[in-house]
Amino acid sequence: MKSIIEELKDKALKELSGLEDLKALRDFKVRFLGKKGEVTRLLKSMKDLSPEERPVFGKLINELKAFVEAKVEEKEVELKELERKRRFEKERLDITLPGRLPRIGGLHPLSQVLGEVVDVFKAMGFQIAEGPEIEEDFYNFEALNIPPDHPARDMQDTFYISERVLLRTHTSPVQVRIMQKYPLPIRIIAPGRVYRRDFDVSHTPMFHQVEGLLVDKKVTFAELKGTLIEFAKRIFGANTEVRFRPSFFPFTEPSAEMDIGCVICKGSGCRVCKGTGWLEILGCGMVDPEVFRSVGLDPLEVTGYAFGLGVERITMLKYGIDDIRLFFENDLRFLSQFV
Ligand SMILES: [Zn+2]
Repeated sequence: MKSIIEELKDKALKELSGLEDLKALRDFKVRFLGKKGEVTRLLKSMKDLSPEERPVFGKLINELKAFVEAKVEEKEVELKELERKRRFEKERLDITLPGRLPRIGGLHPLSQVLGEVVDVFKAMGFQIAEGPEIEEDFYNFEALNIPPDHPARDMQDTFYISERVLLRTHTSPVQVRIMQKYPLPIRIIAPGRVYRRDFDVSHTPMFHQVEGLLVDKKVTFAELKGTLIEFAKRIFGANTEVRFRPSFFPFTEPSAEMDIGCVICKGSGCRVCKGTGWLEILGCGMVDPEVFRSVGLDPLEVTGYAFGLGVERITMLKYGIDDIRLFFENDLRFLSQFV
């Protein structure tokens, strides 16, 4: 009997030393000290012993039980520490690795260029004006000397909402609204979205314009030229060549288009400038007397100039972009080049 106890003690010590985690330790406890465990079975087997032997072995078995229990407790502390270390090892952070930086956004190239254009004119004393994108026929066409039967309306493929209401085809209606509302002198720019039924490499159904209007007494064409030449130099660089060509718009007289020396070939002729060495960047002119009359101003008393430019076109020329649709595809490979 005594040897059985010794054997069991050795067995317990051997098994305990081989345990690697807390679950194995719990299983061991059940196997040795549980209700059906080996120590309990040994206690039960005492009924076969003689009354003299019983207390002796009872004492030995209780000693064994206490011994195993103490060892289990020791092992438990040891295994808990071991598991803690293992977990630390597994969850360890390598703080020497370079971090993953969040992607930083930026302004859309059109917003950037629009901001630059606005800043140039603000510095020259122009105020910013806005008008509705859903516009009345009167402001978009009629008041701008484009009557219902005027051929200029055929040039503008317009989104009509009803017979008299449409999506504005240019920012020029803001001119009319401002002249109706405010006293002279007027010196404004009106940036905003405009809409035309057009879609190819150089046209999108929605694009951005900046309208300019200056109305006062004795405004001259020379002042218009001076303002726009300064604008071109600030946007495209101090050495930019500029020329004005006679043109026609219903709401200005005389009218002109302003070209800059080709930014790609520097004037020697290329595909972008179609071999001319020049790029058209905006339309302008002296406000037509009919426009003044339609807002109740006397053309013999007041004079003014107006101009309008396309933000997409300016941006394309500034950065050498050959397809206007790139601006609206939201491809990060394109947009991130401007951050
Ligand atoms: Zn060129």
